[in-house]
This record gives sequence, C-alpha cells and structure tokens, in this order.
Amino acid sequence: MAEKLTNKSTHVSSIARFSFERCDIIKSLFEQRCNEEELPFETLEDDSLRVIDGDMEVRFTACGQDCAFHIVATRQLDLIEICSTITEGLAQIDPSLSKLSWSHAADTLDSPDCLTLATIIEREAIGCSWWRLVLEVSPVEITKFLGAHWHVQVLRPGRPGRDPVWPVVNAHGLVEWPTGQNELSRRVFTIRSVDQSKNTISLDIYRHDRGSSCRWAETVLIGDVIGLWGPSGRRGPEGHSILVGGDETAVPAILRALGTLPPTTTGCAVLMVGDEGDVQPNPSNQIAIKWLFRARGDDLVAVFCETPMPAPDANLWFAASQEQARAVREHARGDRALERSQIKALTYWS
Ligand SMILES: Cc1cc2nc3c(=O)[nH]c(=O)nc-3n(C[C@H](O)[C@H](O)[C@H](O)COP(=O)(O)OP(=O)(O)OC[C@H]3O[C@@H](n4cnc5c(N)ncnc54)[C@H](O)[C@@H]3O)c2cc1C
Repeated sequence: MAEKLTNKSTHVSSIARFSFERCDIIKSLFEQRCNEEELPFETLEDDSLRVIDGDMEVRFTACGQDCAFHIVATRQLDLIEICSTITEGLAQIDPSLSKLSWSHAADTLDSPDCLTLATIIEREAIGCSWWRLVLEVSPVEITKFLGAHWHVQVLRPGRPGRDPVWPVVNAHGLVEWPTGQNELSRRVFTIRSVDQSKNTISLDIYRHDRGSSCRWAETVLIGDVIGLWGPSGRRGPEGHSILVGGDETAVPAILRALGTLPPTTTGCAVLMVGDEGDVQPNPSNQIAIKWLFRARGDDLVAVFCETPMPAPDANLWFAASQEQARAVREHARGDRALERSQIKALTYWS
C-alpha cells in the first residue's frame, strides 16, 4: 500500500500531457525506477501507475497514444525537480519529448530557491577516509537545512578554474543546467550536521581512488564558493527496531540518523570503513555498531546478511554500491522474507 502524501492542504501540482506511440516503454521504465529506488508504487483501476512517497505523488496515465504525468508535491523545489527528472528521462526515450510543457510553468520564478551558494570555511581529515568540509551559508538560508531533507547536490564547475554558471528555471518550468564548457559537476552528499548558531553545515566526502570529488576536496581553497542544490531526499534509517548497514558513503547519513533517533529505537548497525583509524564515536546509546575494515578484507554484504534481525518487524536500511544494494534487497525479500515496506536498500554509487 502506498504511503500517504502529507500536508495535502499546502501541496503544489503540475500536469504534462503528450502523445507517444510506445507508452509501454514509459511504463516499464517508471516501474524499473520505482523498484531501484525502493519507492512503493501501485497500478490503479484505470491502469495508471502511481507512486506516493511522503512528500510527493507521481501518476502516469496512458490511453492509446495519449499520455499524462500528474505530479503533486509539498515543496515547489521537489515539484520542479521531479518534472525535470521526468522530462530528462523521457528525452532519453525520444528527444522530441524534451519540449514537454508542465502546467506549473507560469507560477515559477526564474531563480530556484533550491540553489544555495555556500562558502567553504574549513576542511578537516576524518580518519583516512573522509574530508570534512564546513560550509557557511546566509542566516536566512540555513533554515532550509533544518528540515527532514538530508541530502544536497554539490555544484562546482566541471572544468577546474572556470567561474561557475548556476542553473535557472526556464519558461517550461524546468531546471536548465549549464552545458558545454560551463557544465557543472553534480554529486550527491549527505548533510552530516547543521549548526544554526554559526550558519554552517558540514559534509563528509569519501576519499576513494577514482573520485573527482575527492580530488576536488583535496585542492579546494578556503573561501571558494560552491552551489548546493536541495536539500532533498530522505532521512536515514527510522523505526522502533532497525538493522542498518552501509559503506563509507553511507556512514555520514547513518551516524547522523543514530544521533537523532528517539531513545526507544533499538537495533544494530554494520559499517564498512578503511581501518581502525576511521572508527567514529557512536552517537547512540541503544544501537550497537559493528565496524568492518577493508584493510582486514571484511565483506559488508556477507556480514550484514548474516546479522540476525533485532526484531521480526524491524526495518532494514542499507546503502552502498548498486551491486551491494541489489544483493541485500534480494536477500531481504528472499531469505529473510521481509515485507517491501520493511526494506530500504539504496544505491549510493555505481
Ligand atoms: C542520497 C545519497 C547520499 C550520499 N551521501 C554521501 C556522503 O555523505 N559522502 C560521500 O562520500 N558520498 C555520498 N554519496 C555517494 C556519492 O554521491 C558518490 O560516491 C559519488 O559518485 C561521488 O562522486 P565522485 O566524484 O567521488 O566519483 P564519480 O566522479 O561519481 O565517479 C568516478 C568513479 O568512481 C567510482 N566511485 C564512485 N563512488 C565510489 C565509491 N564510494 N567507492 C568506489 N568507487 C566509487 C565510480 O564508479 C566511477 O567509476 C551519497 C549518495 C547518495 C545517493
């Protein structure tokens, strides 16, 4: 059963109608995306597909060649993001669909409130595995980061040394991202902490061998300005009983979650890091953390899948690579026979 959309009284909505011969392709991609992102979807009586997930509702209907997407969201930035993501996906199926018009376009301002400019004021190594960047934003904008959304896209020029050109919202109501020489690097990171008294937020960026973000974090200068797109995305693990797992990219979200869960939540977490030097203080008294070490050859998926459920109705939350998330999802549905609503196995990188 789909989750209810909250705050219906304050929602914003948009519709795009279009004609397309192969609606079945759109439908199957819609289903695939929902499965990958663990979004609960259902098929309605009129054969339309609907996903409702906390802050948003997306519905796809098709009658012959007549197709429509209906979107409802609680924040305008989510609406714009969802419409843009859908348009980008449709354009990959058929480039002519990139001209789709959304009904909210007339109400949209050209300066998206989901873009925040932030100044880097500090960089610190956390163990051997992360760079912690402390970013300062304006006193007005810090309030954006106090809510339930924990993730941002970090925007910086894709070509080092270029001045950044920021995205705008165009006349179709869609985000227009700079292209060519001005293309931006856009990588998702978790807001590890927010300090409203100092107007700062911090991000922990994993130092893996292949990452351009790591190279950037290594050479970034205090005083550099970057863009933050969001916040969006969901919180970390929640529930009265939880089994949590993740690699270095998920450690910031998991530790933040462990520090904010109510004292009634119990369970355990299995976290993969480089070695003993990466172990961080456990912010929770009631969730035990089992630290795994790459240097020792530990296997995150194997240990996570062998860990007993803390309670039969516990929620399982896991985030790491696409391959590992898929293995955990299959294990949770198969061997553990959990309900879909109990499982969040998320791809943090691929
Ligand atoms: C909701 C969400 C929250 C996230 N939070 C964080 C966070 O707080 N901190 C954090 O560090 N990351 C986080 N990530 C993951 C991060 O977005 C990706 O790891 C991203 O690819 C990093 O960009 P990059 O420039 O390092 O590598 P990219 O330029 O994207 O990729 C370059 C190469 O590195 C490989 N690669 C990417 N990530 C890894 C990895 N972890 N290990 C090994 N190889 C990798 C890619 O396959 C590719 O071959 C989060 C992702 C999501 C979806």
